[in-house]
Amino acid sequence: MKIPKIINTYCKYCKKHTAHSVSQARVKERGSLKKGSIQRAMKRGLGKGHGNLGKYGSKPAISKWKRTGAKGSKRVDLRLKCNVCNKTTVKATRSRVKKFSLE
Ligand SMILES: [Zn+2]
Repeated sequence: MKIPKIINTYCKYCKKHTAHSVSQARVKERGSLKKGSIQRAMKRGLGKGHGNLGKYGSKPAISKWKRTGAKGSKRVDLRLKCNVCNKTTVKATRSRVKKFSLE
């Protein structure tokens, strides 16, 4: 899927169509000072009961039972930044894509 780097679309802050610069939205790593950080959860003893309930270890717990890597395509989210007000919104694409590029 090829998407232009600048597209003209509706900005909900300007309430009209403006030029937006496009980039691919990625998951931001959660900060260590955030309320839901793993370090904080462990310190507060939120892992209740006996053992760590499979939550904390050398490997992520999800890899033990979930089938990952089964799909060859991804759903890509676009991060749109309004060139007028500089506000950013994230827009999900409907279709799954194998290749994604901005041009
Ligand atoms: Zn705007």
